[in-house]
Amino acid sequence: MSKVIVVGGGPAGMFAAIAAAERGHEVVLLEKNEKLGKKLYITGKGRCNITNAGDMDTLFANVMTNPKFLYSAFYDYDNQRVIDFFEENGLATKVERGNRVFPESDHSSDVIGALQREMKKLSVEVHLNTEVVQVCHKDGRFTGLRVKDTVTGSKRMVQGDALIIATGGNSYQSTGSTGDGYRFAKELGHEVTPILPALVPFIVKEEWERELQGLSLKNVAVTISDPDTGKKIYSDFGEMLFTHFGVSGPTVLSASSYAAKVIRQKNLLLTIDLKPALDEAQLDERVLRDFEEAKNKSFKNSLDKLLPKKLIPVVVELSKIPPDKKIHEVTKQERQRLVTLLKNFKLTLTGLRGFQEAIITQGGVSVKEVNPATMESKLVSGVYFAGEVLDVDAVTGGFNLQIAWSTAYAAAAHLS
Ligand code: FAD
Repeated sequence: MSKVIVVGGGPAGMFAAIAAAERGHEVVLLEKNEKLGKKLYITGKGRCNITNAGDMDTLFANVMTNPKFLYSAFYDYDNQRVIDFFEENGLATKVERGNRVFPESDHSSDVIGALQREMKKLSVEVHLNTEVVQVCHKDGRFTGLRVKDTVTGSKRMVQGDALIIATGGNSYQSTGSTGDGYRFAKELGHEVTPILPALVPFIVKEEWERELQGLSLKNVAVTISDPDTGKKIYSDFGEMLFTHFGVSGPTVLSASSYAAKVIRQKNLLLTIDLKPALDEAQLDERVLRDFEEAKNKSFKNSLDKLLPKKLIPVVVELSKIPPDKKIHEVTKQERQRLVTLLKNFKLTLTGLRGFQEAIITQGGVSVKEVNPATMESKLVSGVYFAGEVLDVDAVTGGFNLQIAWSTAYAAAAHLS
């Protein structure tokens, strides 16, 4: 049995603390915030998409960076073990569209509660308001930490046999993820690959987009392509959101990981199919039916059944059909223009927003210098990494938290 210090009270840190304590280690968890799991609390819009219930191939296919590094970690502690862990600890779960797993209660606070209960049961010593400022090492071995009390400002040393760095990435800094782990890793001699905001909203060029702010579209097909070559970069079906500067929501956020490099060179085209369940002919029939019922109405007042309210003025404008034209006067050609617009609603993407709005950080502690089976540093023995601090990341759907649970487990299960 050894004394293990875990830095960071996010999902990776809490889970590592539990798995280490289950193995009989004395565990101390240090968190600089006044409470644990601040980022976990806001995950999945406050519902926490704990993991994804897809098969192993799906898990790996959704990891964007360094999926091979996660091979052992995912196989040793897979999504079913995560679900079992929470179910056994009093958190009922449910599976939603796209195999996304959520707590049945829809409350991320219940996920944090389950982890806290388990830590208490296993006597993990939790120190809040405790910021690690320096990691000390001698002769290639971890020796201890310098920590600061964030309330009093006083500093002290904490000694231990092993250290798990679970400080997260560099996004949504108000939750405590301020990139400290990258600094510690560099000080230990590790390479840190360039960090970039990922799973981040896009900025849109069209001014009229601002009128759609707050509008969420549930079942749409989105495609991002190169406007010059027509080459598809990403396509998906699901939910998206219009914001005050552009577009966000699950489908668009995932797209950002695929488009991140190209969009630094050029603008991209976002095409939204507003009615993906119908082909053009079926949609034309549907519009005709609606028009039959609204014969004497003006065009601008005829679309309520077809489109959300906020979208109507924009569609009317883009269709170039005079808004006050009576429906019985709308020509076949104009109607077809409307149908084409609904199937190909286009926006120009000019860039990505920054770290403050990024769901995750791409880049981090280079996996070349970390043992993939144990998460131990290859440079300083007794130092382990878990979670987002590592140079691994995935798209939306519960995959990033699976990375946190699996890497945390790998580190805790192999403490020397
Ligand atoms: P973090 O959760 O960032 O935790 C790191 C902790 O370390 C923090 O509490 C921080 O205060 C502490 N810390 C940092 N430095 C120090 C220091 N020097 N001393 C002491 N403590 C320190 N992923 C999913 O899979 N499903 C989702 O539904 C989902 N939704 C998301 C929604 C939002 C809005 C965001 C921002 C992210 C979401 N993610 C989701 C991503 C997921 O939250 C992260 O990948 C995950 O939290 C990473 O876990 P972590 O433990 O590695 O790091």
